[in-house]
Amino acid sequence: MTRQFKLKFLDNIPNELDEGVLYISMKYHTTAHLCACGCGEKVVNPLNRKYGWTLTFDGQRVSLSPSIGNYQFPCCSHYYIKENEVLFLDSDDDMPHRRGYIRRLIDWFMKLFR
Ligand SMILES: [Zn+2]
Repeated sequence: MTRQFKLKFLDNIPNELDEGVLYISMKYHTTAHLCACGCGEKVVNPLNRKYGWTLTFDGQRVSLSPSIGNYQFPCCSHYYIKENEVLFLDSDDDMPHRRGYIRRLIDWFMKLFR
């Protein structure tokens, strides 16, 4: 699993990617990396303000927006790359909210039978 990416700026994205490396081609306006979950799938994110991703580079760290959702892979991982770091958006993040909703529904039912 990748928690932090190393950056590699080059013209051509190599065929074989190393895990934990974010490859950035300014020439072809694209980035590529191996899925941060560690499944080994190749993730390519074209840089395009309208149809792709926006890359922010502060001289040392790169952020990509929007988030990267790998729903085409079995892992279905979803994460942000923010200042080289990987912030995973687990489906668990939604759980407290959903649990609260179900809890309220159960409370409502219980009231009916009181
Ligand atoms: Zn993955």
